Amino acid sequence: MSRTKFIAGNWKMNTTPTEAAALAADVAAAVKDVNGVDVAVCPPYTNIAAVAAAIKGTNVQLGAQNVHVVEKDGKIVTSGAYTGEIAPGMLKDAGVAWVILGHSERRQYFGETDAGVNLKIRACFEAGLLPIICVGETLEQRESGITVKVVEEQVRGAYANIPAAQAAKTVIAYEPVWAIGTGKTASPEQAQEVHAQIRALLTTLYDAPTAQAIRIQYGGSMNAKNAAELLSQPDIDGGLIGGAALKAADFAVIVKAGAK
Ligand code: PEP
Repeated sequence: MSRTKFIAGNWKMNTTPTEAAALAADVAAAVKDVNGVDVAVCPPYTNIAAVAAAIKGTNVQLGAQNVHVVEKDGKIVTSGAYTGEIAPGMLKDAGVAWVILGHSERRQYFGETDAGVNLKIRACFEAGLLPIICVGETLEQRESGITVKVVEEQVRGAYANIPAAQAAKTVIAYEPVWAIGTGKTASPEQAQEVHAQIRALLTTLYDAPTAQAIRIQYGGSMNAKNAAELLSQPDIDGGLIGGAALKAADFAVIVKAGAK
């Protein structure tokens, strides 16, 4: 099955609204003639409105980096007394299509759990948002030989009770924690091996057509130089890009590599 590659920029806690609008406009201009690849940028919450305006009518989609979800009596709460938090419906109304969930920085610094990611996936679908679900092992876990076990647990936890029709629309970002923001990239073979294992697990959790439909991005120091080789692997369906997404020209090179 041929999956359209998906390149998403995770801007993390970078850019002011003014800077974000300019970067988004530069990205849109740089990729305007590139077809056959999906593109999204994920700015901080404060910059979503500015970026939505800057990319209106372009082939760049909008994503967010997190969402807050509360469940009470089996129902997802969509508003209320949760100072400082942002609900899925708010993102949807602001023009957001994608939400990054379970990023390793959120797992590490903000106590994000697999159960929390699962709840957020359910809430995203209820609100009409699509999740980009991040999984990946730490260096210590890789060196102890438990990469597959760790990633399997994260995938199983995220997809618990998510029906196949919804699962098929999700995106997974395999991001080895040791490769994020470190300049150390997984080799194409290392990444492909884990992507294939994730797809095999999805086949057992669902079925072959569903597993074949789910796009699995690689994330972790992907850049303008190494993107083409990573993206040439059969189970690498795109990239979640941190540092290199903050330079429109570099990001555009990665997007173009995904279009090939
Ligand atoms: C990320 O944060 O999702 C990421 C992959 O970052 P970087 O590209 O900077 O490693």
